[in-house]
Amino acid sequence: MFARRIAARLYSTAITSAKPVEGFVGAIGNTPLVRIPSLSKQTGSEILGKAEWMNPGGSVKDRAALFVVKDAEERGLLKPGGTVVEGTAGNTGIGLAHVCRAKGYKCVIYMPNTQSQEKIDLLRMLGADVRPVPAVPFTDPANYNHQAREYAEKLTNAVWTNQFDNIANRRAHIETTGPEIWSQTSGTIDAFVCATGTGGTLAGTTRYLKEISQNRVRCFLADPPGSVLFALQQTGQLERTGASSITEGIGQGRLTDNLSPDFKLLDGAVHITDEETIAMLYRLLDEEGMFIGASSALNVVAAVKVAEKLGRGKKVVTVVCDGAYRYQSRLFSRKWLDAKGLFEAIPEDLRKYVSL
Ligand code: PMP
Repeated sequence: MFARRIAARLYSTAITSAKPVEGFVGAIGNTPLVRIPSLSKQTGSEILGKAEWMNPGGSVKDRAALFVVKDAEERGLLKPGGTVVEGTAGNTGIGLAHVCRAKGYKCVIYMPNTQSQEKIDLLRMLGADVRPVPAVPFTDPANYNHQAREYAEKLTNAVWTNQFDNIANRRAHIETTGPEIWSQTSGTIDAFVCATGTGGTLAGTTRYLKEISQNRVRCFLADPPGSVLFALQQTGQLERTGASSITEGIGQGRLTDNLSPDFKLLDGAVHITDEETIAMLYRLLDEEGMFIGASSALNVVAAVKVAEKLGRGKKVVTVVCDGAYRYQSRLFSRKWLDAKGLFEAIPEDLRKYVSL
């Protein structure tokens, strides 16, 4: 009787099926939606973060990795023993390396050499062939994406998954992230906001939420310094600023194919500075014990701004893309923070967490 009561309680709070899932790829998605108490209290709205760090590869990009590989299989581009090649700042590569391992494919990753050592080490441990290349803009033929495409073209039974312009990426969020958020809020979500790298998460989730709510849910872009999208959304002009950001995996210099069909659906955009991001990152660690990456902290700052803009009593959802573990040597290092001019942005009583 007692056991049955506990079981009933467990099942009523669980969002995932109680049934076993099939291997690594079966554990992707169905992440919890986490209410952030301190920020909900501050804003008078519910601030909710999709806990994407709980994906088995540790980030939101597991979803896209699974969908682009499945898409290549379904289109007959990838056969047993084949090779998956991708240009990625890290998290997609980690998702792809896991998915390839589970499905028996080889995995080759081209990435800009500005990325954190933790991500490179992890990729290598997962068996990926990692090729760091100079960080040059997309317009340069030596950009990591072009190098990935060219390498895949030289191989047989190989696919360049092309996360930026392959809309199977966006489909992952139309078919999983969007429906999960809708169901977890029982359709009462008022707003969604997140930053973009490829644009898959923002565009796919926005598309689903706009359609299911008949345009009631308001959707916003969050953008770091150096990205062109904030200005593009606000003014329609694509202007490069030459600024840069400490956030990894977000910010964009163009409208990718994942973004372009749905960019016009957005209701607005918020620009977030690195100072705001780092202060939120430390605050969430202190107040909530949340140990999250910089793109996630930026998303949470944006969720607070959207909540303040919409007025009290709303439900605002954002994405907690990954944990801080992958960036520890930077985000918690005094030397690195000083080099970025960001130590002073951390409130004085939280500087005790700067431990490296
Ligand atoms: N945050 C992190 C940490 C990422 O690695 C990425 C993907 N590069 C994103 C956010 C953005 O996700 P998307 O590619 O779906 O726009």
